[in-house]
Amino acid sequence: MKVFAVVNQKGGVGKTTTAVNLAACLAAMRRRVLLIDLDAQGNATMGCGVDKAALAESAYDVLVLDQGLQDVMVDGAGSLKVVGANADLTGAEIDLLDVEDREYRLKTALSHASGEFDYVVIDCPPALNLLTINALAAATSLIIPMQCEYYALEGLSALVETIKRVVAHLNPSLQIEGIVRTMFDPRNSLTKDVSEQLQQHFGEKLYRTVIPRNVRLAEAPSHGLPIVAYDPASSGAKAYLALAGELVRRELDAAAAMDRGAKAVETKTD
Ligand code: ATP
Ligand code: MG
Repeated sequence: MKVFAVVNQKGGVGKTTTAVNLAACLAAMRRRVLLIDLDAQGNATMGCGVDKAALAESAYDVLVLDQGLQDVMVDGAGSLKVVGANADLTGAEIDLLDVEDREYRLKTALSHASGEFDYVVIDCPPALNLLTINALAAATSLIIPMQCEYYALEGLSALVETIKRVVAHLNPSLQIEGIVRTMFDPRNSLTKDVSEQLQQHFGEKLYRTVIPRNVRLAEAPSHGLPIVAYDPASSGAKAYLALAGELVRRELDAAAAMDRGAKAVETKTD
């Protein structure tokens, strides 16, 4: 089971859009996918057709009240299982202050569900708070959406510092899965500059797939549907499907490389 945290402390860069649509595309590729909303705004919850106001139980119950993921998850659009969030989650940070292992609440909950899913996608709030820390501690890797604009790189060093500290103290095996360029507009002259800087910074971690600015992606959440269900022919749907394909292909390539390495070792020791 791979656990992806979709993080960037900068607001409005496309975290939720990426979390919902990447999760739905992976589910469309017949993978078993759980989407966890860790943002009290509940946008990811609503975006896959789950009414946040009507949730009996939410991520709050998992983090603070020790409820199992299985007891809290509901069915969302596009074959997704969803652990939803709503305003209840605002209190979680304070309610967790006295709790032992408060950074590991989500990790512990996920450890009981490890056989159930191929992928878990966590939508993080636009802050480096305790909820985000729970996501970073539970994740196998990070997906970082970036908008190619002037201030995009400004927050990046803070994020990289946080990641380093989490690796040192909470989750030594945490990796960056990939950086994805969102709301991409090739006509904007800054886009090229920022893209080149991202390439220098992150090399092969930068996904080749870019997510274009596409109004259908902005409309889909108000219908409670991921883009692949709302408008499969849109440029947004094609882009997120391509991103899911790129992600899965990278994984297969890495696994094949491991295999080749193992075989090489075997033949040497034979
Ligand atoms: P927050 O930090 O508030 O959680 P976020 O990083 O999760 O924000 P989103 O909510 O995904 O960002 O996106 C911000 C806004 O931009 C939303 O209204 C969303 O519909 C819109 N949006 C995101 N990606 C695209 C895109 N590729 N094309 C057009 N609109 C987009
Ligand atoms: Mg969001």
